[in-house]
Amino acid sequence: MAIKLRSGTRIAVNLGVDFDAHTVWEGSFGVSSPAYLSRGEFCAEVAAPRLLDLFQKNDIRTTWCTPTHTMETFPNSIDKILGGGHEIAAHGCRHEKIGGLDEDAERELLEKQLDLHTRYVGHRPRGYRSPSWDFSPHTLSLLEEYGFDWDSSLMGRDFEAYRPRPMHRSEDGPHVFGEPSPIIEIPVSWYLDDFPALEHVSRINPGLASTDVIYQRWKDHFDFAYEEIPNAVFALTVHPQTIGRASNFLMFRRLIDYMKSKDGVAFMTLSEICDAWQD
Ligand SMILES: [Zn+2]
Repeated sequence: MAIKLRSGTRIAVNLGVDFDAHTVWEGSFGVSSPAYLSRGEFCAEVAAPRLLDLFQKNDIRTTWCTPTHTMETFPNSIDKILGGGHEIAAHGCRHEKIGGLDEDAERELLEKQLDLHTRYVGHRPRGYRSPSWDFSPHTLSLLEEYGFDWDSSLMGRDFEAYRPRPMHRSEDGPHVFGEPSPIIEIPVSWYLDDFPALEHVSRINPGLASTDVIYQRWKDHFDFAYEEIPNAVFALTVHPQTIGRASNFLMFRRLIDYMKSKDGVAFMTLSEICDAWQD
């Protein structure tokens, strides 16, 4: 049970974009000053077009995980992303902290996402990526109930798509897994995310790592998956406001050039990876 790639393809690469704009600051860090929000403005108005141009030059279509607040605040960006042939997936409303929500509040948020995706994208999202990759105990069953095909927030595998299982926690005995979900999970990793390594947040996250170090880390992960894992999935997560800064952008472009120099590398959207699943 895994994805089955086309003959001659060794690895599915998703260069996933989390198009958070203002929401990551308000939702995850609780800051809403004009200075922090200007980083979200840079995200939508400078970095997103820069990324779209890079993807277009390299004939790459990918998945933009987009909070609904970004759609409402920067609707022209959504048109450009769709015009570039990319997919838009659900990523919360205002980058909420999902892990602490009760079921009713999480359900309300999901329903709002389905409504606003239909309004701004033209249809419901097929996939979901939770803000900051956290799940509540209800998230998986809610995604099933609302008919999502895939999720990309969990870390139970590294380079293989899989079916996540609900876990029943016990305070005084073993934790017990339930039956595999119909949802296809395309796993993520903090190692393969630009934000913690590169984005500076005063007194919270130093960021500003050497791009040579990050290039080597991402290349090592890619090389391992390429060499060691049959039908591998390599899901990298970038944020326009982070990867769009000059030194980071040049490093990202160098990584794309490296991956394209290898045989059998397919750049795919997360829905295309989900569709390659075979039981
Ligand atoms: Zn995000």
